[in-house]
Amino acid sequence: MKLLVMGPPGAGKGSQARRLVKDYQLTNISTGEMFRQSANRGEELGKKAMEFINDGNLVSDEITNEIVRRRLFEEGDNQDFLLDGYPRTVSQAKALDNMLKEMNSRLDAVVNIVVDKDIILERMVGRRVCKNCGYTYHVRYQPPKTQGTCDQCGGELYQREDDKLDSVRNRLRIYEEKTKPIIDYYKGRGMLININGMQSFDAVYRDINKALRDVT
Ligand SMILES: [Zn+2]
Repeated sequence: MKLLVMGPPGAGKGSQARRLVKDYQLTNISTGEMFRQSANRGEELGKKAMEFINDGNLVSDEITNEIVRRRLFEEGDNQDFLLDGYPRTVSQAKALDNMLKEMNSRLDAVVNIVVDKDIILERMVGRRVCKNCGYTYHVRYQPPKTQGTCDQCGGELYQREDDKLDSVRNRLRIYEEKTKPIIDYYKGRGMLININGMQSFDAVYRDINKALRDVT
């Protein structure tokens, strides 16, 4: 199975993807990791990619597509995978479709985990982290026994800068702007599976499984 999982920050996409990789025995193809590996091997392509990243920029479509292409052709067309961090633009999505077509293959499904903005805000803004051990709490859903103090080690709990309201709002806005065209692209191609992410982890996973049974 060749899969793509999408979802806004705070939707639990990472945990769902990890479980899918394990249960379906998929290769997790992460562009971030490929960039680093390629750079470590001293390849020109990887070095260029790391320059973009180190400057705080997105790696260009050209370099990203080329690195994904090499990896896919290296693995061969029987490889089952879950793509992580790619495609990030419609142009990358189109390039991916073409690469797979060349291999007489295609994506089986694009799983889109949908969560209302207000719920994401509540989940993220309520998050507190222990300064000492990094354990994570939620003021409402997983509060510590004593307010502001870690149950595990007694350390002080704090709110990370990027969990603050303005920061979360900003990240959600950027996510929507960037991914809406990609979601529309896959919807137009009849590949998009919307999953209700406003349920427990297990319920979300069950719904994903159910949907995947219908496509394979
Ligand atoms: Zn702690």
